[in-house]
Amino acid sequence: MKKKGDLTNHNNISRKSFIKKSIGGLAAGSSLLLACTADEGSTSGTQIQRKKHRWKMLTTWAPNFPILGEGCELFAEWVRVMSDGDLDIKVYGAGELVPALESFGAVSEGIAELAHGSPYYWAGKVPEAQFFSTVPFGMNAQQMNAWMIGGGAMELWKEAYAPFDLHPMLGGNTGVQMGGWFNKEINSLADLKGLKMRIPGIAGKVLEKAGGASILVSGGEIYTNLERSVIDATEWIGPYHDYLMGFHKIAKYYYTPGWHEPGTFLETMVNKSKYDALPKSLQMILEAAAMKLNGWVLAQFEAKNNEYLSKIIAESDVELRVFPDDVLNSLRNYTDEVLEEMVADNAASKKIYEHFNNFRNQISNWSKYSEKAYFEKLSK
Ligand code: CA
Repeated sequence: MKKKGDLTNHNNISRKSFIKKSIGGLAAGSSLLLACTADEGSTSGTQIQRKKHRWKMLTTWAPNFPILGEGCELFAEWVRVMSDGDLDIKVYGAGELVPALESFGAVSEGIAELAHGSPYYWAGKVPEAQFFSTVPFGMNAQQMNAWMIGGGAMELWKEAYAPFDLHPMLGGNTGVQMGGWFNKEINSLADLKGLKMRIPGIAGKVLEKAGGASILVSGGEIYTNLERSVIDATEWIGPYHDYLMGFHKIAKYYYTPGWHEPGTFLETMVNKSKYDALPKSLQMILEAAAMKLNGWVLAQFEAKNNEYLSKIIAESDVELRVFPDDVLNSLRNYTDEVLEEMVADNAASKKIYEHFNNFRNQISNWSKYSEKAYFEKLSK
């Protein structure tokens, strides 16, 4: 997952000149066109006005970033085909129009109509959004889908984004991430003391409670910093993206599970005023394409991670390790403390946290008798 600092180096001057250009382009792109719905040869064809929409989609991913950037291009294609060309979306990689972490503001202001990212990037503006993304020891992909689509979270998410004139839609899930790459063994909580790890966000605060240090490193510098022991460990995503980064060439241990990101939920957000102004049919097409993207992204992560875990094992001497139970139990307790502190002074965050927690506790019980029982008793 790309984090703050990974993404762009655009300066303000180029952004301002872009905004000027893009506003001009937007006006030109939304002209009203006439279209004939009847066959070309028909003599009784009825002419109706069909507005052609040319939209811009920002992403928080580098251009063509594996799975995530590719998925956004597919999303645009699905919408184009389903709408018979009435909604034409052009996808921009991070930094091509605005820096990745300005996507929220740019769509909110209508500079672009859409963006793809993950809600925890906007924690500075909407702290409760982190629960719609992932939190340490939160829910996995299947449970997050259940909470979102079947458990009422989507409505809460819409409420949280409405003041920013944003309408959230589904956007995929990374699946459970890996715990990270380490050059020292983690056998007890004491081994986390003084550990310098690239692990951002809430999980970084949890590591600090355990005596470690959360080091901010941009994506492009992680490899060198790990190789030169500037950091002792790093998390990234899962076997596919981690392999592409080459971490298996310089780290001794690959730990699991990714307690810090058990199923990171992604989003496709739309400027709400522009969404509301669309015909119902185009709104439905956007929602359907977002739902399709949601399934496609997770399926790709699962298929590729499976393939690339085998490659890592075959091509390197890395040892796969599981974090000891007592380490995970302590990290879970620290996580509860961090989350309680986070929501203590924020009523909106507290409301979402309670909803999240209730659903997680209930579905954990169901998962124990369904998925967990199946994997323990029936799978190879
Ligand atoms: Ca990650």
